[in-house]
Amino acid sequence: MDQEQESRYSVKSRIGDLAFFGGTPAFEDALHVGRPNIGNRRKFDERVHDILDRKWLTNAGIYVKEFERRIAEYAGVEHCIATCNATIALEIVIRALGMAGEVIVPAFTHVVTAHVLQWLGIIPVFCDIDARTHTIDPNQVDRLISSRTTGILGVHLWGRPCDIEALSDIAKRRSLKLVFDAAQALGCTYGGRMIGSFGTVEVFSFHATKFLNSLEGGAIVTNDSELARKVRLMKNFGFAGNDSVECIGTNGKMNEVSAAMGLTNLESVTDFISINRRNHKQYQDGLAGLDGVALLPYQEERSCNYQYVVLEVDESKTMLTRDQVMRILHAENILARRYFYPGCHRVEPYRTLYPNAHLHLPETECVAARVLTLPTGQVITPRIISAICNIIRTVIKNAEEIGKLLQGMPAN
Ligand SMILES: *Cc1c(COP(=O)(O)O)cnc(C)c1O
Repeated sequence: MDQEQESRYSVKSRIGDLAFFGGTPAFEDALHVGRPNIGNRRKFDERVHDILDRKWLTNAGIYVKEFERRIAEYAGVEHCIATCNATIALEIVIRALGMAGEVIVPAFTHVVTAHVLQWLGIIPVFCDIDARTHTIDPNQVDRLISSRTTGILGVHLWGRPCDIEALSDIAKRRSLKLVFDAAQALGCTYGGRMIGSFGTVEVFSFHATKFLNSLEGGAIVTNDSELARKVRLMKNFGFAGNDSVECIGTNGKMNEVSAAMGLTNLESVTDFISINRRNHKQYQDGLAGLDGVALLPYQEERSCNYQYVVLEVDESKTMLTRDQVMRILHAENILARRYFYPGCHRVEPYRTLYPNAHLHLPETECVAARVLTLPTGQVITPRIISAICNIIRTVIKNAEEIGKLLQGMPAN
């Protein structure tokens, strides 16, 4: 998006200015949530050339090894095992820890957090969240533990760490494994310590949409040397050496080009954080004082990657539903997303397997109906955010009238 197009963003002050009601869309090109952050291209190109020259594309190449060292260093953890993605990493970890029976998991997360359990024949027991933090509620966890429970799979949603202290206490007291899905939480801290070394083990994702991407990729991080050795074997078919297979395994390896991308982007994390932070602050200022819409705040005393701008639309105050706000933004080419909607318990196979799960998930249901994530990251400039905030303000200020106009229109 060039300066010229940006300077054309006009201020929208009336309902008729909104694209949904006949105005010109604010953006010619769609603004997506989760456009990748990309570091120094020349460095990436050089690394890729080097990989091709060496003719060593995967299997513990030098770039993967360096990436593992750098991630371990950055996250302040002893062992890092890079993988092809976080999904396989979680499956390997769960299997390596011998988790079985039931595992407690939040219902408000990427569906894959439930899938990895179900895929391994483990029952995901859906736990409610704390509506203020969007992370698993430790008080509920305690009540869901049964004789079949073998572990807790917490999620640092939006990069906000779960209540690690309370969960660690429960896990210790009830002799449960504690695994953290830290897919979204690289670069975030808890109690002054980087996410990466909490629980038994944590898993990062380096998917294209995540804070730091390696095209696709993931990592298992832990201070447990025994576990580290085991998952390293398991991600490589169980091979301990040529002709020597020690255990069951899968193919969870990261390739060299992914590692090159990860390393290149890791060199720019400080820039990524400051851009995300600047964007988040601007959204916060731009939407301040509006009744019924608010950004989920990041705690300033914690470091964070600010990768998600999470708007909560409180229908009882705005008179407009989150979905109505979303439709109006989409008409402007602002492709805001209802992330983790409608909750794991409301999609297949869980909806059919556990039809009554929603009964004990009131906070999940409520938050899932309110959340709208807004575009941020490297490609989103201050001018774009001004234009988005202007549109949201115009929508909320005219909510009552817009609500009347929308009545009688089909929901989609
Ligand atoms: C993205 C994500 C995953 C999966 O990561 P992949 O690398 O895409 O497999 C797992 N859990 C959460 C919470 C995620 O956001």
